[in-house]
Amino acid sequence: MTKPSIVAATESDSPVDSSSAVSAVSPSSQKADNRGSRKPESAQPEPKRRWTIEESEALYRIQGWGEPYFSINAAGHITVSPQGDRGGSLDLYQLVNALKQRNLALPLLIRFSDILEDRIERLNACFAKAIARYNYPGVYRGVFPTKCNQQRHLIEDLVRFGKPHQFGLEAGSKPELMIALATLDTPGALLICNGYKDREYIETATLAQRLGQTPIIVLEQVEEVALAIEAGKKLGIKPILGIRAKLSAKGIGRWGTSAGDRAKFGLTIPEIIAAMEQLRAADMLDCLQLLHYHIGSQISAINVIKEAIREASQIYVELARLGANMKYLDVGGGLGVDYDGSKTNFYASKNYSMQNYANDVVAEVKEACEERDIPAPTLVSESGRAIASHQSVLVFDVLGTSDVQAELPEPPQDKDPLVIRNLYETYQSITVENYQEAYHDATQFKEEAVSIFGFGYLSLTDRARAERLYWACCAKILGIARQQEYVPDDLEDLEKIMASIYYVNLSVFQSAPDSWAIDQLFPILPIHRLDEEPTQRGTLADLTCDSDGKIDQFIDLRDVKYVLELHPLKPKADESSAHAYEPYYLGMFLNGAYQEIMGNLHNLFGDTNAVHITLTPKGYQIEHVVKGDTMTEVLGYVQYDSEDLIENIRRRSEQALQENRITLQEAQLLLQNYERSLSRYTYLSSS
Ligand SMILES: *Cc1c(COP(=O)(O)O)cnc(C)c1O
Repeated sequence: MTKPSIVAATESDSPVDSSSAVSAVSPSSQKADNRGSRKPESAQPEPKRRWTIEESEALYRIQGWGEPYFSINAAGHITVSPQGDRGGSLDLYQLVNALKQRNLALPLLIRFSDILEDRIERLNACFAKAIARYNYPGVYRGVFPTKCNQQRHLIEDLVRFGKPHQFGLEAGSKPELMIALATLDTPGALLICNGYKDREYIETATLAQRLGQTPIIVLEQVEEVALAIEAGKKLGIKPILGIRAKLSAKGIGRWGTSAGDRAKFGLTIPEIIAAMEQLRAADMLDCLQLLHYHIGSQISAINVIKEAIREASQIYVELARLGANMKYLDVGGGLGVDYDGSKTNFYASKNYSMQNYANDVVAEVKEACEERDIPAPTLVSESGRAIASHQSVLVFDVLGTSDVQAELPEPPQDKDPLVIRNLYETYQSITVENYQEAYHDATQFKEEAVSIFGFGYLSLTDRARAERLYWACCAKILGIARQQEYVPDDLEDLEKIMASIYYVNLSVFQSAPDSWAIDQLFPILPIHRLDEEPTQRGTLADLTCDSDGKIDQFIDLRDVKYVLELHPLKPKADESSAHAYEPYYLGMFLNGAYQEIMGNLHNLFGDTNAVHITLTPKGYQIEHVVKGDTMTEVLGYVQYDSEDLIENIRRRSEQALQENRITLQEAQLLLQNYERSLSRYTYLSSS
């Protein structure tokens, strides 16, 4: 998939024009971006000069996806401005070091509560601005879909930050209803009850009215209509009901099938009409007050959003005309996040701002209602991704790298096998004019070497020489290719083949499940050394022994890139240290939505450490420390009892002692390590 041309975004997500904190993109990097998949920074023919933080800014596209929360400071570290343009900032690298000193090991999930607050403020401000702009005669009452991130501290923050806006919660299941019922205490805020429901769900939600809440039971299945009528009659409470419509307007991309006639949830138009008849017969048509739809998550194109809201507005107007007591129109989720900062309708981006979104919702609903003289509804949205993504950053360290060895071996002698002499000659002859041809020659000679080896005519040492020569050719060719405006398709893979593997202290399955499951892109970059040129090209390999446990697609202006620009690891100055390298930290950004709860225990890597950071006038404050799983905990999830395990090892050591297979000292060390491990973090400790 290729992205279409960039849509000039005139309005940012901010209702106030946000002023950029980061300096302009340097001309050389801009040019680099325009070359498509090539990233020739390291091969600029100009004389060596110092790499600037502006170049890093442009390379990792920080302004595109990170504004106004993330930028780079003069020290070359990522800075976080959790209150956007309104408040102070902190140095992420220094923060990580400070947290490490408090025994919070990496990988570490850092949640910035102020970012969460800022997102809620922004969404409400955008709707307020749109309502004022179009003279909309109703109000906006947003809700947060709990499924996006159910962590207690986050939901409690959300409820607190949402109070001034009567921001509510949406539950999509019975356990989420339990959270919402007990946590939401904002008068007038909505409690939207979605998902599959049984009698108990509907009764509980209906009874919540008695606690002063405003639960709206959204009927998603035909069977739920009768259940709601029954529950209302039995309790003597009139439930507030909504209906989820299956729109014919379809979403796009990954969740494109969330709408349409065969969608999993919602009622078709004939079913809606039948439900209304049922409610009318039970004398409960006045209970029906809300129309809801959800056409999928991460809607990247504004025209899709418009089409859906247009159709839904008409349905809303018709329901009111048919006698329902309509008061709310709930446009669901789908508000996108610009993960790659390209402002396009690419799946990892969106071609509209939060303000465009609010404007379109308000304008379309207003027009439809005015035309038919129907009172304007309270507008409800269920934005999850757009609220929760920005607030958390996962910081992890690099444990080591595996690089392609591309040094040229000794020149061959006349007695050496022909294939080796050919490879050497190929290497010598590579020029700008013939590099593409030379690549094919080198590849062919390497294959030939492998083939003759298979027949027993090449020694293992000679095969090694042939392979090393091949890699030397590739490195030379890549050096030339990176400087070209246009790179032939058949050389596109070269960058991938030559990339280093960076081994990272994290489990993709636990911390970025969508990266593995649905190729979701998250911005990933070093959080320090950004004033140094990243001369390496790498992909990331995680700790699991699963070949899918890797990240080899990264955000780019156009499409995706298959290697990430990274810094070479620095050998540690201190020889006595057990660790060979200076710490190198990477950050994965915008991963606050869906990842935490969908993460799994593949290879028994557990939850990571997590902290909440809040800005204070003097700096910052660590609010909650949620320690990641220990080995005892993850083993408990699969029904192992650590006492039993220790007992087992003890018994075996005792037997080995008696049979003189182990010394007392060794047995002690073994038991000590075993016991200590069980109470420890499941990840590796690298420093
Ligand atoms: C998942 C979901 C949402 C949240 O969607 P986002 O795209 O994350 O905003 C909202 N409403 C319903 C019904 C959902 O299932």
